[in-house]
Amino acid sequence: MKVTVDPDLCSGCGLCVDTCPEVFELDEEENVAQVLVDEVPEDAEEYVQQAAEECPCEAIEIEDD
Ligand code: SF4
Repeated sequence: MKVTVDPDLCSGCGLCVDTCPEVFELDEEENVAQVLVDEVPEDAEEYVQQAAEECPCEAIEIEDD
């Protein structure tokens, strides 16, 4: 599974970082979430899925392998 954040949509709310800090990090300067990994680790997949569903801006895009 791969995941991306659209910086034009992201509001920097930080919800995804709370849900899955292994994969998402907040860029404090730009105030947008960044993805830390190329490939989502298997044990983080359900949290990434949850983050995508809960993102208030629908900025998280998941790409299944
Ligand atoms: Fe951005 Fe969505 Fe993450 Fe909030 S939950 S920081 S809007 S990607």
